[in-house]
Amino acid sequence: MHFTSPKDSTPLPHIPDDLTLPQFFLDFNHPARPVRPPGVPWLIEDQTARPISFEEICLRTSSLANAFSLKWNIVENDAVCVFSPNHVDYPVCLWAIHRLGAIVTPANPGYSADELLHQLQTTKAALLLVYADFLPTALSAAKLAGLGEDRIVVIEPSAASPFNGKHETLSKLVAYGSSKPQNFVERKLRPGEAKTKVAFYSFSSGTTGKPKAVVIPHYAFIANILQKATHFGISDPSMKKKHMNPGDVAVAVLPFYHIYGLVVVLHYMLFAGLSLVVIPKFDFTKFLESVVRHKITHLFLVPPQIVLLCKHPAVKNYNLSHVKLCISGAAPLSGELMSSVRKVLPNATIGQGYGMTETCTTVSILGGSQKMGTVGSAGQILPGTIARVVRPDGTLCKEGEQGELVVTGPSMALGYLNNEAATKESFIDGWVRTGDEVIIRNSEVFVVDRLKEIIKVKGFQVAPAELEGHLLLHKAVADACVVGIPDEYSGEVPLAFIVLREDALKRIAKNPREGDQLKADLKKRIKSLAGGVVFIDAVPKNPSGKILRRVLRDKARQNYASQ
Ligand code: AMP
Repeated sequence: MHFTSPKDSTPLPHIPDDLTLPQFFLDFNHPARPVRPPGVPWLIEDQTARPISFEEICLRTSSLANAFSLKWNIVENDAVCVFSPNHVDYPVCLWAIHRLGAIVTPANPGYSADELLHQLQTTKAALLLVYADFLPTALSAAKLAGLGEDRIVVIEPSAASPFNGKHETLSKLVAYGSSKPQNFVERKLRPGEAKTKVAFYSFSSGTTGKPKAVVIPHYAFIANILQKATHFGISDPSMKKKHMNPGDVAVAVLPFYHIYGLVVVLHYMLFAGLSLVVIPKFDFTKFLESVVRHKITHLFLVPPQIVLLCKHPAVKNYNLSHVKLCISGAAPLSGELMSSVRKVLPNATIGQGYGMTETCTTVSILGGSQKMGTVGSAGQILPGTIARVVRPDGTLCKEGEQGELVVTGPSMALGYLNNEAATKESFIDGWVRTGDEVIIRNSEVFVVDRLKEIIKVKGFQVAPAELEGHLLLHKAVADACVVGIPDEYSGEVPLAFIVLREDALKRIAKNPREGDQLKADLKKRIKSLAGGVVFIDAVPKNPSGKILRRVLRDKARQNYASQ
């Protein structure tokens, strides 16, 4: 059985297949796009309240593209890495890269030099844009990747405090690009070309292994925007009460490097005519102050932030009655949290969204005409997306039956860069295997469990294979298996099962305190091991040597609480 949107009789608007993202957002007026009232800024810088207009974004984008072309000859299919927290110039960076036909690879600013190196090497990045605070990490990674220091551009903390280092800065480049005649020819696409013309290499671990570069074309990205626009009926005159209207104000505190922040918050909100308050770093009380100061009406959050809204004592000091919509995504939101947050946001519609990097975000989200999300539901399937729920033997489930969710539609990514084996496993004849166990009822997706190995900490992926790689470098460790255990705040945290080498085992048998010391040492080395370390005799494996992760995960869930 196939499952579709309850709105599937409403045809999708035309999805342009010959436009890049900046052409779609800055140069083209799609009929499904609501009119933004005059004077409503596109972006608002949180700290300074500085409004940023459409005109300013357009100008900075073309000036920066010109500078990239003049200084480094950035061209078709060069990858440019953006290693930055949220910043008002973030969309300018993305769209300048796209104007040249080049590809953006957004990196998590929390990455270590090793993690960033993996991204720079996988994508063969030709240029690295880095927020000033993260320059030391960028320099170490760039050196190891063989990327010259002259190929690092610093994004300054704010317009008021220019960075005084030896690298090119974004503001200088914009000034330089605008002072010179245009050196580049805007990349135009042939009809149909947007379906394969790559916009992003966004990182995800998929079902197994280390983070991989998900290849996302312009068309898939634009499709997901238009699918959401149809789902929410944002330009449907017959829909009286809409979840969002031009002139509303949304918070952009979720990081733009992640697909949720990139598509749902940054691009979709701008398309829908909202202003985005751009917040670089999440600090809960400052966040509450920003919500009140900018009269933010739309909150896009992850479950740990909802936990804080429900439990933090500071919340009672803030009047949040102007909040109209609160969407949680990237990880499951429990029914209890959903009911609690309704009390904190008395005038808001609360709902969830579900999606993944490989589907260029949203597969399902709160229904456009739902006054309140169904408890436990990750939302209704988007128009244009088709879902199947598959049993372990490959046959299709009926409505209400539990199985793996497999989806297709216009927003699917093309696969993983240079990784045929992983691509074959997850991308099958235009369908994407989500690795999530779900039940679908009345077009609503209920996520029951995760079959794939990734762990989601505060909504963000942690790849067990990566942590296991670090653990195996320790001289006392013979084998390792990392699994997620439930945690009230983070959703999940990683716990490591360790098999000790013979000599370490003997020493610890003689002196058990050495064992405690080793556990502390491993947790210190790998900060993300918040679930702790447990010694075991052997990692269970199948006859071909594949870790039977679920056995240990179930054992961990039963026996170990996060500490
Ligand atoms: P990412 O590619 O980082 O967005 O991770 C995608 C994965 O996050 C999905 O395959 C799910 O496992 C998980 N996920 C996203 N949204 C939800 C949700 N609303 N409920 C449960 N899990 C979710």
